[in-house]
Amino acid sequence: MINEKKNDDQVIIVGGGPIGLICGFWLAKMGITVSIYEKGTIIPEDLRASTWHPATLDMLDEYDISDMIIRKGSITPSWQYRYQDTGERAIFELNVLEGETNHPYRVQCEQFHVVKYLSNKIQGLDNANLYLNCNVFDIAQDEEGVDVHIIDNGEKITERCKYLIGCDGGHSIIRQKLGLGFEGKTYPVLTMVAITDFPFEKYYDGLSGVNYIWTEKSNFSLLKVPDRWRSGITPIQGQNPKDTLSDNSLESHFQKIYSRPGERYNILARGMYQTHQRVTETFNLGRVLLAGDAAHLNSPNGGLGMNCGVHDAINLSNKLYKVWHGSDHSLFNLYTRQRKTIATEYVHSLSDANHRRMRQTDPEVRREIMNNLKEITSDKRLMKNYLMKSSMIESVRYAESIK
Ligand SMILES: Cc1cc2nc3c(=O)[nH]c(=O)nc-3n(C[C@H](O)[C@H](O)[C@H](O)COP(=O)(O)OP(=O)(O)OC[C@H]3O[C@@H](n4cnc5c(N)ncnc54)[C@H](O)[C@@H]3O)c2cc1C
Repeated sequence: MINEKKNDDQVIIVGGGPIGLICGFWLAKMGITVSIYEKGTIIPEDLRASTWHPATLDMLDEYDISDMIIRKGSITPSWQYRYQDTGERAIFELNVLEGETNHPYRVQCEQFHVVKYLSNKIQGLDNANLYLNCNVFDIAQDEEGVDVHIIDNGEKITERCKYLIGCDGGHSIIRQKLGLGFEGKTYPVLTMVAITDFPFEKYYDGLSGVNYIWTEKSNFSLLKVPDRWRSGITPIQGQNPKDTLSDNSLESHFQKIYSRPGERYNILARGMYQTHQRVTETFNLGRVLLAGDAAHLNSPNGGLGMNCGVHDAINLSNKLYKVWHGSDHSLFNLYTRQRKTIATEYVHSLSDANHRRMRQTDPEVRREIMNNLKEITSDKRLMKNYLMKSSMIESVRYAESIK
């Protein structure tokens, strides 16, 4: 049976990940009624993102969300590139960004803390609802609004709204229903994450909160979040990827980082991800908008994807507010021009360069890269220029300049 609930004076958001919840929270705080539909039955402990960049923290100062990210996360004043065997390193100090941002540091806070916090906040608002176990399977738009077809706890229903935002991740059904492509590439190597509570900072000399480390033949990352370290792992060549995440294989990975004869590491969590670099043709079609991973994907190296999605969410919410109050729909074209340009020209090029640098194994090329990074970090002006880009401050300013 199709149960029709028609209350079209609202915005519907598909997906209760970080980007859907930020869109929903922003719009509701600006007085617009929102309904968020999430197919999961609970808010999941997604292990993916942990890096929050200065530009994003500045945006999230509004409504004090940055305070919560700082409370639940670890402030990271520097990050480094490093050779594992010699300890030689190039250290990027974010305090050179003072005066450009309220947050001259990165914060490492796992994305699920923010998702949980925003879900609770949204449930406390009169004009916002988050519905779990609701799988959106189709949409149909006309000149006045959008019909949204949902399987709500096993029952088919149809909701209606004036505008719909697809924040439903890389496999976005909304993007597919709009008939939009998702051009780009899939990285051939999987990305793995494993988490342990061992306090590496006490035993491993000169670590920063974020470390990108070259081993003799491969690489790994070590990222500090409160009470635990997250390690990004490249699968062992020739090994079945699943085996790279086995207890024994992870034990050997951590033992190679810091040897503890006779003692085993406590593995708290592990995950395996296929990564892509893709973007869709347009982020707006009629009354349907796309934001976050539904619109663009990139390599996780450098921690840029979710941050870019947060910038989409706030840019779009501010424009949707204006359209809601009478501005022309063409503002949505500006949203696409601004955010698609950033996704491709900044985020794709930076994250892909980070990805290739991490996976470089030729000793001579590595030597050249390290020398270049050390030259940058030994000159405050060069380091600031580099960090203005990697901290996404430059991309936010550039987006604002696109008319
Ligand atoms: C290993 C790894 C590490 C990363 N680290 C970082 C980092 O440090 N910093 C960073 O900026 N980025 C990072 N990223 C990227 C980041 O995780 C994503 O960009 C981010 O999660 C995207 O958020 P989103 O809300 O757009 O999509 P998602 O987080 O994928 O959320 C989409 C939501 O939509 C729901 N959904 C899907 N389909 C439907 C449907 N039909 N109906 C209803 N609901 C639906 C899903 O259940 C999900 O909850 C990392 C990625 C990987 C793989």
